[in-house]
Amino acid sequence: MSVFAELAELGHEQVVFCRDDSVGLRGIIAIHSTALGPALGGTRLYNYASEKDALHDVLRLSRGMTYKAAVAGLDLGGGKAVIWGDPTTIKSEALFRSFGRFVDSLNGRYITAEDMNTTVEDMNYVHRETEWVTGHSAHTGGSGDPSPVTAWGCFHGIRACLEVVYGSPDVAGRTIAIQGVGAVGYHLARFLSEGGAKLLFNDISERKLARVVEEFGGRVLDDDEYWSAECDVLAPCAIGGVLNARTIGMIRAPIIGGAANNQLANERIDGETIEKAGITYAPDYVINAGGLINVSSELRGTSHEKAMQDAANIFNTVKAVINKAKAAGITTTEASNQLAEERIEAVARLRRFHLNR
Ligand code: NAD
Repeated sequence: MSVFAELAELGHEQVVFCRDDSVGLRGIIAIHSTALGPALGGTRLYNYASEKDALHDVLRLSRGMTYKAAVAGLDLGGGKAVIWGDPTTIKSEALFRSFGRFVDSLNGRYITAEDMNTTVEDMNYVHRETEWVTGHSAHTGGSGDPSPVTAWGCFHGIRACLEVVYGSPDVAGRTIAIQGVGAVGYHLARFLSEGGAKLLFNDISERKLARVVEEFGGRVLDDDEYWSAECDVLAPCAIGGVLNARTIGMIRAPIIGGAANNQLANERIDGETIEKAGITYAPDYVINAGGLINVSSELRGTSHEKAMQDAANIFNTVKAVINKAKAAGITTTEASNQLAEERIEAVARLRRFHLNR
C-alpha cells in the first residue's frame, strides 16, 4: 500500500519524517487528528525491522490517541512519534534535542511525551528545545510520573464494572487479580487494598511480586493460574496482546478491567469472543486514560488534585460505554469507538464559523 493510501485509510492529517544523521535520528511524527485540539501522544523508541513497520506503528498508535482523548472528554487530538533505533545504543542528549527541534517546528500542532523506551530524563532534553512536550520532570514544570493517576482511573473503571455486574461498585471483599505490578499495577494494588479488596498477583519479576505481597498481602499466581483464577476482576496491567485465543477460553472472572495498552490481540475477533462469553470488558484505552488526563491537566496548568478528580470520572465513562454496548448489542470497544467518533463530529461541527480569538 502506498503511504498516501495508508494515510487515507486511517484518516491522518499529516506525517512528518525527521532525519538528522549527525545524531542518528530517523523519526516519524504522525498527526492523526487535530479536530478536538493539538495532537498529543508519546515518542516510542524502537528497533523496527523496517521503515514500513515504523510507519505502520506510528500511524496505528496516533489514531488510537485520537479515540482515547475523545472518549476521555479532553480537548486534545491524536498524535504519536517513533524514533527508529536500538534503545540500548542510540540514546543521547543530542538525539533528543534534535528530535525536540523537529517537534518545535510543528509549533504546537503536535505535543510529545514519553512512551516505550523513552523516559522523563529524555523528555527533559526534548524540553530544552521545545515547549511542546509533557511528562518532563516536575522541577521543570512537568507533571512527572503519570502512573498513580492512571491507576486511580483504572480503580474507578473497575468500580464501574462491579456496579454493572453486581449492582454495587464497592471493592471491599472482592477478589481482584492484577497482572503486572510495575508502575501502574503497584498503585492499583494500593488503591484496591485500601478499599478492602483481596488481591492476586502475576508478574515476571520476583522482586516486584515480593514487594506487593509484603505491602498488601495476597497470593502469587503463575501465568495459567492467573487467566483461570476464580476471582471477580482480572486487571491486566503488564503488556499488550494478552486477551487472545489461548487465554480467553480459560477466563472465569466476569470482569476484565486493567491498564495495559492493546490488550485484545485482535480487536474485533477477541472482542466478540469476550462479549459472547458474557464477560464485561472495560476497553483498555478508556480505563487507562488517567495518564493522558494527567498530561492534559499539566497543559492547562491545573493541579494534581484536579487530575485525580477527572480520572475518577472514568467511572462514568466506563458505565456509559458498557450501557451503550448493551443497548446496541455491540462490543464495548465498538461502543467506545462510536462514542469517540460522535464527540469528534459534534465538536468539530462547532468550529464551522470563525471566532476572532
Ligand atoms: P511497567 O514497566 O512499570 O510495569 C509493567 C510490569 O509488567 C512490570 O512489573 C513487568 O515485570 C511486568 N510484566 C512484563 N511482562 C510480563 C508478562 N509477560 N507477564 C506478567 N508480567 C509482566 O509499566 P507501567 O507503566 O506500569 O505500564 C503497564 C501497562 O499500562 C503498559 O501496557 C502501559 O502501556 C500501560 N499504560 C501505562 C500508563 C502509565 O501511566 N504508566 C498509562 C496508560 C497505559
